[in-house]
Amino acid sequence: MCGIVGYTGRGQAAEFLLSGLAALEYRGYDSAGIDVMASDGELHGVKCAGRVATLVERCRTANLTGTTGIAHTRWATHGAPTDRNAHPHLDCDGRIAIVHNGIIENFEELRRSLRAEGHEFKSETDSEVIAHLFGDAWNGPAKGDMVGALRNTVARLEGSWAIAVICSDAPDQIVVTRCGSPLVVASTEDGAYAASDVIPLSSVTDHVVQLEDGDIALLEKDGGITVYDASGGEVTEP
Ligand code: GLU
Repeated sequence: MCGIVGYTGRGQAAEFLLSGLAALEYRGYDSAGIDVMASDGELHGVKCAGRVATLVERCRTANLTGTTGIAHTRWATHGAPTDRNAHPHLDCDGRIAIVHNGIIENFEELRRSLRAEGHEFKSETDSEVIAHLFGDAWNGPAKGDMVGALRNTVARLEGSWAIAVICSDAPDQIVVTRCGSPLVVASTEDGAYAASDVIPLSSVTDHVVQLEDGDIALLEKDGGITVYDASGGEVTEP
């Protein structure tokens, strides 16, 4: 099952994300990773095969200062459990980071067409296509629109997913969606949170929103969360 956590707010992201991953360990996993956005927009990440404790140790010597980030525990389905295959995965420019739980059934066909367009892949995972598709949408029809770029991306996918995305060009935002894999979001005065289940959030709030399949949620640093349903309408009382 494995897990996803995301945070944007006024606190340090790595702090919540690493404790969130530890809280999701019970779900089972073989690798873990984190990406945090620095104040200049640069993404800084650490990822490794093995335990969350190993990731935490490696993070001690990395500069993960920043208030927006995503993190992941992986249960490998496509590609061995190696450092390179651990999530997050980046687009070609290194300005978009994604984490994914689930399986992208049509990844081979997508990877073939993305490679033909010049995209270079760094992992053997099915998930990496998501970063490249999001990159194409962001640099094309959905320029400047995190929700639109994710909608455009998932329209190309077959399979199951919970996905969280951050982008250097959209500081202090995280966009998330799900289809067949669980995902919850929550808002507090300290920021906005996403997680695979309520356990990582239990120390910050009692009120979480379960996303429905097809929902896309935009999380913002001030704690704002806007949820759009599969038809694109805003969910008024998420
Ligand atoms: N299918 C993806 C992979 O193998 C995600 C697995 C997961 O749910 O952690 O990387």
